[in-house]
Amino acid sequence: MSTYDTYDYDVLVIGAGGAGLRAAIEAAAHGVSVGLICKSLLGKAHTVMAEGGIAAALSNVDERDNWRVHFADTLRGGQYLNNWRMAELHAKEAPDRVRELEAWGALFDRTKDGRILQRNFGGHKYPRLAHVGDRTGLEMIRTLQDHGIHQGIDVHMECTIISLLKGGERIAGAFGYEREKGQFKLFRAKAIVIATGGIGRAYKITSNSWEYTGDGHALAYNAGAELMDMEFVQFHPTGMVWPPSVRGILVTEGVRGEGGILLNNAHQRFMFEAIPELYKQQTADNEEEGWRYTQGDKQAKRPPELLTRDHVARCIVREIKEGRGSPHNGVFLDISWIKSKIPHAADYIKKKLPSMYHQFKKLADIDITNEPMEVGPTTHYMMGGIRVDADTQMSTVPGLFAAGEAAAGLHGANRLGGNSLSDLLVFGKRAGEHAARFAAANWPATIDEREVNSIARQVLEPFERTTGENPFQLQYDLQEVMQDLVGIVRKEDELLQAMDELQKLQARYGQVKVVGNREYNNGWHTALDLQNLLTVSEAITRAAIERKESRGAHFREDYPKKDEQTGNCNLIIVKGKGGEMLVKRETLTAMRPDLIQIIDEMK
Ligand code: FAD
Repeated sequence: MSTYDTYDYDVLVIGAGGAGLRAAIEAAAHGVSVGLICKSLLGKAHTVMAEGGIAAALSNVDERDNWRVHFADTLRGGQYLNNWRMAELHAKEAPDRVRELEAWGALFDRTKDGRILQRNFGGHKYPRLAHVGDRTGLEMIRTLQDHGIHQGIDVHMECTIISLLKGGERIAGAFGYEREKGQFKLFRAKAIVIATGGIGRAYKITSNSWEYTGDGHALAYNAGAELMDMEFVQFHPTGMVWPPSVRGILVTEGVRGEGGILLNNAHQRFMFEAIPELYKQQTADNEEEGWRYTQGDKQAKRPPELLTRDHVARCIVREIKEGRGSPHNGVFLDISWIKSKIPHAADYIKKKLPSMYHQFKKLADIDITNEPMEVGPTTHYMMGGIRVDADTQMSTVPGLFAAGEAAAGLHGANRLGGNSLSDLLVFGKRAGEHAARFAAANWPATIDEREVNSIARQVLEPFERTTGENPFQLQYDLQEVMQDLVGIVRKEDELLQAMDELQKLQARYGQVKVVGNREYNNGWHTALDLQNLLTVSEAITRAAIERKESRGAHFREDYPKKDEQTGNCNLIIVKGKGGEMLVKRETLTAMRPDLIQIIDEMK
């Protein structure tokens, strides 16, 4: 292995967002050596972009809230496909993780009596999101990084992992390259935590940045781990639609939590028109009641703008399809209307939603304190991911752990806003702890040098071709296929067509060519990311074909109803012996009676 820069760690964490940082801190606290790798600069993970807040039943704003209500809300939002044990752990442990973050220096917005303030968000019965204006992720990352610095964690920035290595059945290390010089790096580790975030770049319109190409999902799948729930891709209802250069950038749900309303081009508040049965009891009867809810009236029920994201996104698509959209193929989101309700509304909006104010002012020349925004759905979050054990976060490969957006289970068919940041803290901590325990109990597995050399040769092949496919064009074509054929509204013939197109893209990928040398070569990096995008796109499409019903984020026009007979299962994706992708159905494990009782009580 002398040709590669080689590093040895007990625990290697791939990804330095909230989940990766929290895992690294915990592993280090257990006394093992820890390496932390990120594809871009430290601090520039998706977590830093999180706006609205962290969901945790602290019950600071509404004393009726507790972990049981949070648990029931999470399962209702996930249409009961969630791993119930993960949902239980998450609801129980999130408050402690938020308080811990505060103890480490996070400065949350405050209630009048000095406690952590909590705001309303879609699908949460009570105000539950601890927040810092609309820059919560920034504060979370800052705090975790400040804290992590004191733990002696080794950080490798701008380093992309391209393959996991095994010794027999067990994880043994990871192989990657560093962006600047293009040199390879080999990491030997007794345990690895994958915390690489999402897959948004598989789609054309997305709130995700360039890094989110499903790397962790594909790395784990290729190492023999199982993926789960891949058909469930969350399309956030409100992304910017204009100007084209900013299309997809997120408009936080916090806007609706603070009283923002959705309107069509006839100025109708269309969200009152189709309230799902599951949420009828909890939704305001009229606009006045909805407004009172956003202002903290505990007797009022929430406005329909705060229904779950899957539903709101579909209502917006319906308005656009039926000709009631805004000029640039969106609908209107209006927070300025609250001027008629409260004094000094402009100051209030700027204080509560400072990033949104600046985002629209700078990027679209819109003053949101005076005029409505134009918004439409954007690919946002991946509910599906690496299948893990609920308590330890270990995948089906011994020594390989996963946490955060790259892992599956907590969110079922649809994630509630705010439940990702709490997921990162709760399960990042658990993954770090159990990876450290695994490392302490095991010798390093042996890495086969020939395998490493073969990977290195393969990833350099695109440089050797004199003619071939442009990686940027291929990525663009892939995004078009996924956007047009495997998007918010799906149907069999389009999904089958997508499979055909993906096979053609896979064949073209075999001919991908890059020019120049290995130093900061964006074309080469895109070519390497593409293989991961192709893998996750195939997994999403195969699972979407298999699930012949509509549930949560997965909507089939040809099967518009939920199917209790065939749908109460998770779809597992695994690599077959011949390298083919297989989809297996797995019935849900029976929930503990005490948890069933909670669900029944909260109905
Ligand atoms: P990330 O924070 O995405 O970090 C992934 C890390 O993995 C990065 O360091 C990246 O460089 C690294 N990485 C990726 N691939 C590789 C590779 N091959 N090799 C090495 N490193 C790699 N959720 C909420 O709960 N509340 C909110 O208010 C909220 N707002 C959001 C706003 C926006 C604009 C977006 C995009 C998301 C928002 N979310 C929110 C979702 C939430 O931010 C993410 O789901 C969450 O931050 C993911 O965290 P993570 O730690 O799993 O991964």
